[in-house]
Amino acid sequence: MTTATHPNPAGAPADTGRTMRALVKHHAAEGLQLVNDRPVPTPGPRDVRIRVTTAGICGTDRHIWQWDDWAASRIPVGIVTGHEFVGLVDTVGAAVTKFKPGQRVSAEGHMCSHTDYLARTGDAHIAADTQIFGIDRDGCFADYICVPEENVWPVHPDIPDKFAATFDPLGNAVHTVMEAGVSAQNVLISGVGIIGLMAVTVARAAGAARIYCTDVDPKRLALARKLGAAEAFDASQGDEWIKQIRRETPGQGVDVLLEMSGAPAAMDQGFRALRNGGRAALLGLPAKSVTFDFNANIIFKGCTVLGINGRRIWKTWYQSEALLRSGRLQLDDIVTHTFPLADYQTAFETMISGEGIKVLMNVAGDA
Ligand code: ZN
Repeated sequence: MTTATHPNPAGAPADTGRTMRALVKHHAAEGLQLVNDRPVPTPGPRDVRIRVTTAGICGTDRHIWQWDDWAASRIPVGIVTGHEFVGLVDTVGAAVTKFKPGQRVSAEGHMCSHTDYLARTGDAHIAADTQIFGIDRDGCFADYICVPEENVWPVHPDIPDKFAATFDPLGNAVHTVMEAGVSAQNVLISGVGIIGLMAVTVARAAGAARIYCTDVDPKRLALARKLGAAEAFDASQGDEWIKQIRRETPGQGVDVLLEMSGAPAAMDQGFRALRNGGRAALLGLPAKSVTFDFNANIIFKGCTVLGINGRRIWKTWYQSEALLRSGRLQLDDIVTHTFPLADYQTAFETMISGEGIKVLMNVAGDA
């Protein structure tokens, strides 16, 4: 699909004749391939071409690597993968007004035409015509990426590359925490993967009262405690912990549930630990349809359920920047590894095995 706002889809010819390295979904099976003959993309009039410095591997990239049912149904073979990054502006299209070469930037990966009802009424993050780079069109696991100017985010000089490369997942955590509202509230975070762990430190920075977490990985539960969780329960060991939460909270349950696992059992437990009249914000994606007790968990409980998708554009980005600059986020233990792009196999294995949490790839330093 080629439009004025979405030039350079996967496979578009470049006019420079230059080539670059890119991590490509080369065939419909497991793995990715690093090629060095991808044409450097040519920016359209409203595009910014960015020299990628550092890129982050997301859970979504893991699905694309493993080529599960979701990836097979969504990802065009041949695409350049990746959507989390920071880089330097390389060149800009003729109509670009806000950016110039050399500027350090990241970008919102969700692109839309900004013409539909949702985008025009302040909800561009759930616009029906959304396309995502690294999923629907070429992404950032490459030396260069072209992004529409309206999606480019200038990175504050105080924020180092290793955190600037995580604006996308951090934004998921910030969006979830802010939509739910956690200040002086008791909070349960079910599932402490990358975004769940980020939600712990974000909720703490945002003034949550007691933070409880659940997961089935002892290492991540320990990290959740280190990041400020009052208690972190192993959900595979039964649900006695729900009684403990009820005893410890005046409302007989947490005020807020942040569901980050997508696991049906964790969703059920999380809602059972939520007090009547509480709020649940759901970010975790179940692999398939789930059976769920709406009567006990939502209707008679009188709770509010929020679906969370992406990040608010640009409210979440400003909030993330403010939190990063406040010094109150503990991301050092979450961003665990950085590998050169050439070592992408090791980078993905480190992430997939669970040894690493947020794994980055150094793209520019490896050229
Ligand atoms: Zn991501």
